[in-house]
Amino acid sequence: MKKEDCIFCKIANGEIPSATIFEDRDFRVMLDIGPATRGHVLILTKEHYDNIYEIDAETAGKLFSLASVIARAMKKVLNCDGMNILQNNGTVAGQTVFHFHLHLIPRYEGDQVQVTWPQGSITEEEKEELVKSMKKEI
Ligand code: AMP
Ligand code: ZN
Repeated sequence: MKKEDCIFCKIANGEIPSATIFEDRDFRVMLDIGPATRGHVLILTKEHYDNIYEIDAETAGKLFSLASVIARAMKKVLNCDGMNILQNNGTVAGQTVFHFHLHLIPRYEGDQVQVTWPQGSITEEEKEELVKSMKKEI
């Protein structure tokens, strides 16, 4: 379903022009307008899903399969040293456009991109509790 006021719906469905490098029935792959690094790419679903909780597993599977193809092409063209695959859900996680999209961020030695975090810790008790409760929901 299309959302009238969603900019990524308009881009995904071609109503607003974009720097598209690939599209098929389900996805549009385009350059990010505010790239973290040279060659930053977004994969958008053509259907509107707010986030990872809404997208169906089959589409998500197809999307990641496409991501691997795109990543290989990017590596070849950009000659990047590494790549982060990132997908933000919720404002607290950095989501600013509430239409599902995957970031492919090429990384270069010496770039200033920050996607790492200080390592935390977990107790045996917490581990046990989390494994038990998560297992139940899957
Ligand atoms: P997020 O913060 O994960 O929701 O990512 C939104 C991304 O969309 C940002 O990296 C923006 O630079 C990018 N973006 C926003 N508007 C456009 C647009 N019109 N064309 C291409 N990329 C866009
Ligand atoms: Zn949308």
